[in-house]
Amino acid sequence: MPETTNREPSLLIKGAAVLSMDETVGDLTNGDILISGDRITAVGPGLSAPDAEIVDARGMIAIPGLIDTHMHAWQTPLKGLHADGWTFDDYQSRVFHLRERFCVEDIHDATFAGSVQMLDSGVTGVLDFCHNVMSPDHAEAGLRAHRRTGQRTLWAYGMLGSFDAPPEDHAWRLEHLRELRGRTGDDGLLRVGVALSSLEFGSLDRTATEIALARELGMRMTVHQNPAGQIRALHRAGLLGPDILPAHANAADDEELELLAECGGGISFTPEGEFGGGRSMTVLNRAHRAGVCSSLGIDTAARVSIDLFAAMRLTFLLMRNVDAAAEREAGRYPLERRPGTPLVEPRHLLEYATVNAARSLGLGHELGRLAPGCLADLVLVDTEPYGMALGDPAAHIVLQTGPGDVDTVVVGGAVRKRGKRLTDLDPAEAGAAARRVRERVLSGPPPAKGARE
Ligand SMILES: [Zn+2]
Repeated sequence: MPETTNREPSLLIKGAAVLSMDETVGDLTNGDILISGDRITAVGPGLSAPDAEIVDARGMIAIPGLIDTHMHAWQTPLKGLHADGWTFDDYQSRVFHLRERFCVEDIHDATFAGSVQMLDSGVTGVLDFCHNVMSPDHAEAGLRAHRRTGQRTLWAYGMLGSFDAPPEDHAWRLEHLRELRGRTGDDGLLRVGVALSSLEFGSLDRTATEIALARELGMRMTVHQNPAGQIRALHRAGLLGPDILPAHANAADDEELELLAECGGGISFTPEGEFGGGRSMTVLNRAHRAGVCSSLGIDTAARVSIDLFAAMRLTFLLMRNVDAAAEREAGRYPLERRPGTPLVEPRHLLEYATVNAARSLGLGHELGRLAPGCLADLVLVDTEPYGMALGDPAAHIVLQTGPGDVDTVVVGGAVRKRGKRLTDLDPAEAGAAARRVRERVLSGPPPAKGARE
């Protein structure tokens, strides 16, 4: 775990191609990064610090640690269960109903397994949307797992309980949140947030109660945003704000995107699941043009791999496809470059997974960039032995990189992976934890239907 009070030079990364994602620092073809305690203190060429531990980063690209803004870590052991999902009921009946079977220890083990795999894959930060809080102990188990792994986490407390749950089911969640705020307010890497009740399942009044409490406690919020019109509904109720991060929002119209942009808000897109589920992807381009702070998530390992590089790559290609399709339909084909078209370069997608994601979690002032004063969360991507792509190194990250290329992971100044091996977590232990969950959850008759997303 990082030593947050030590301000002495502790780590000097030497000779990397640095993609700082910071306007002032810019890119360096051969740069060094000095880390003192949990912060970056200098980025530049030819740095020296006699007492620092040296990391030889020649042949590597240094990027801010990737941040997933929409992930259900509790579903990690359910990998593959939704591989050929098609209908909404497929997800409900195959994946979501299993949550009734998760005991307290299952939440710990599943969250631990997911968090370890994320760290191993270069995902230093996550918004873990835990919509499987069936008791206060379930919540405590999720938090315990994140404390153990030391991933920078906004753990979003699920407000939706079982179908037909009595009002007390909601009341204890609110009470527990208040109690957690007192206990975990300054937990360093771990913060508690709120996963609001989905508007289509709860009521606006219920959600308003949750939002009021979250704002009183200074907690960030997130919400599944699937049916059209919910962003407008939140705005009309005076509830919309940059502290609520909607996930998906594929049905958002341009007015809703303007409302989000005006308040400085963002959307977490999970394009692999959304695209595979047949949702409209024009929202990616419309949100970008409107100035919405777009970020990315994996959503669920039940459907796709814990691989944010793949999410960046697919999103870039989807956004190119949306632009190209519009050109073709307008009779401008074969393609020609025009002002504003195409809209995005590969580098924009690295912004989504770093700078924008940090902003969406309320940490934009100190996370998501490699710059003096920022929290030292970073990844070194190995480009050897096959070599770096020509052109922008950001394109290498978005289009040529996978989790297997992640050489080094630093979180809060602590080296968590080096030489492609986790330093203080055991992937085999994570695998064993996931298997334990499967043995407990997937045996016996199917659970009674009663829960909903
Ligand atoms: Zn989700």
